Amino acid sequence: VQYEEVINGSTYTLPPGNRLLHLHLALADYSNPAGNQFAYKIEGLDQDWNYLGTNHDLRLDHLPAGTFMLRLRGADNRGNWSSQEIALHLVVQTFWYKRWWAWLLYAVLLAAGSFYFYRFQLQKKIAQKEAHRLQELDTFKSRFFTNITHEFRTPLTVILGTTEQLRGDNQRWTDDGKQRKLLLIKRNGEGLLRLINQILDLAKLESNTLKMNFVQGDVLPYLRYICESLHSLANAQNVMLRVESPELEIVIDYDPERLLQIVHNLLSNAIKFTPSGGRVTLQADRTTFQKLTNLRLRVSDTGAGIPPEDLPNIFDRFYQADNLEKAKSGGTGIGLALTRELVEQMGGEISVISVVGTGCTFTARWPITHLAEYGPWHREFPLEAFRAPVKIPAGIAITGTYPNPVEDAADSARPGLLLIEDNPDVVEYLAACLQDRYTLDFAYNGRAGIEKALETIPDLIISDVMMPEKTGFEVCDSLKNDERTSHIPLILLTAKADIESRITGLGRGADAYLAKPFHQEELLLTVANLLEARKKLQARFANAARLPVAINATTPEVVEDAFVQKVRSIVEAHLSDAAFSVEHLCRALAMSQPQLHRKLTAVTGKNATLFIRAVRLEKAKTMLLLKEKSVSQVAYAVGFEDPKYFSRVFVETFGVAPSKV
Ligand code: ADP
Repeated sequence: VQYEEVINGSTYTLPPGNRLLHLHLALADYSNPAGNQFAYKIEGLDQDWNYLGTNHDLRLDHLPAGTFMLRLRGADNRGNWSSQEIALHLVVQTFWYKRWWAWLLYAVLLAAGSFYFYRFQLQKKIAQKEAHRLQELDTFKSRFFTNITHEFRTPLTVILGTTEQLRGDNQRWTDDGKQRKLLLIKRNGEGLLRLINQILDLAKLESNTLKMNFVQGDVLPYLRYICESLHSLANAQNVMLRVESPELEIVIDYDPERLLQIVHNLLSNAIKFTPSGGRVTLQADRTTFQKLTNLRLRVSDTGAGIPPEDLPNIFDRFYQADNLEKAKSGGTGIGLALTRELVEQMGGEISVISVVGTGCTFTARWPITHLAEYGPWHREFPLEAFRAPVKIPAGIAITGTYPNPVEDAADSARPGLLLIEDNPDVVEYLAACLQDRYTLDFAYNGRAGIEKALETIPDLIISDVMMPEKTGFEVCDSLKNDERTSHIPLILLTAKADIESRITGLGRGADAYLAKPFHQEELLLTVANLLEARKKLQARFANAARLPVAINATTPEVVEDAFVQKVRSIVEAHLSDAAFSVEHLCRALAMSQPQLHRKLTAVTGKNATLFIRAVRLEKAKTMLLLKEKSVSQVAYAVGFEDPKYFSRVFVETFGVAPSKV
């Protein structure tokens, strides 16, 4: 509270927080001060004067904000109003938030707010429109895609049908080349049709319009049937394909067509990504998941595997992992997407575990139901053939597990056997018989067998006769006429026990013949006898350098002799060249070092280094017998750089010093 004397014409500022103005009024007339009267008027607010009477206090509160002039006048006790007034300027301040600039700020903020709100709304609208547009576009694309795919189906069916008719028209198309071309058209057409059907199925699954046609039955024969249909594909790529199940039968509801798609996709992917010599296994069993019995299918391969960063996406439509260079053929990225949709449609799940370079395992499972009718469709498929477990010759129990060639290969002391056989069950049987005594390697068709034999030069080969790609006779022909493999004993296996095919086989150079079903002992003895005979031959060649050249074309060793002779003449041509090594010999023979090493060891019992030395020493002996040259001259002439070393080796080999010859 301030007390001050009011000066006429002065200005008073009332701050916003304190708007009370209290004036005590007095006149310069002291005759009867109590009778003096006062009046005031606020210009701008009051129309008329406000008479206070004899009240000498003027309290002004609730003054609105603004600038006013307060006029005051007084009258003496007789009522004579003074002619002079007092005028005061009042400035009543408003709160800052009511000042003009505050209002301006509000206005600006409001304007900005409205602007941003409007813009936000606009953007939302645009985004909504865009999403709608994209959705429409997507539906359109999908529909277009589905429609056009549908359109492909009719002409393709016509092409396939016509091709089939032409193929069946034996009279006019006996030409083998034309038949093959027709088959090519048919196979490619079928591939295209399968792709189209998969795309259409995927579209149906996505729009929830795919109908499942369940039948009830034992699923194991059907799975074997599907595998059988992929056998030739697997065999052609030398991939072993097996179905395994710990159960005798698994009766469930299943849609044969859809199950075929699931299993076919998983198996063909596995075969596609598995290199020659690998293995693909389909395992079927029952498992419990969330208290429900589920069918579980596991497809594992020993292939390229899937890079970890691709794993979360491989079930997406059109997704292909970064391992396609490992695939033996291209793809579209549809297969796994469809497979997952189908498994999910049945209330199941599919997952994958993979290690790059080792392979992957796809596991699909879905709950088992028993609601459908027992499948009449069974008649369409020759399922009976797949129902019975494969027959194994009576009286022979298979023991042990299927061997892993890679692990067993470490045992190099045992003779190495190559089994060329396309039927996995026979392979399993052979492996069970032989794995305890021999190191085993496998090829699942004739062509792969020839390649493997040339690559690894095994000690003995057992080959089936009836095989895809190349028959056992052809395998026999190729290997017996190739000097790298001509020495390897070969046993032919066949179900054909007739004398003609035995003669054909033996005539083509097979060393023995076993008719299926054969007894384990018979097999083991045949193998052992052949290996023993090979050893005897080896002993004969042990001193190969001294043997006269056999030119007797009727003996089976003629090729071996020619080979040893060839090696010997190459070494002799480089006799004085001390730098002539195994490497040079390989180059001259166009063979790899391991090939030459195995071949020479198998035939002569000596490895290439020892064989070269033996030829040099034998020649030295001949020269020394002529007594024309000194020991060191002879040593240099046969490629020894150090005569002392030459003498030592000579003594070791022939038991006499070179000077005493
Ligand atoms: P695609 O037509 O390319 O085979 P899929 O949907 O069947 O399409 O498979 C998607 C991708 O998943 C394949 O391109 C491949 O990269 C990877 N893949 C699937 N199965 C295997 C497998 N067994 N081994 C390695 N990669 C696989």
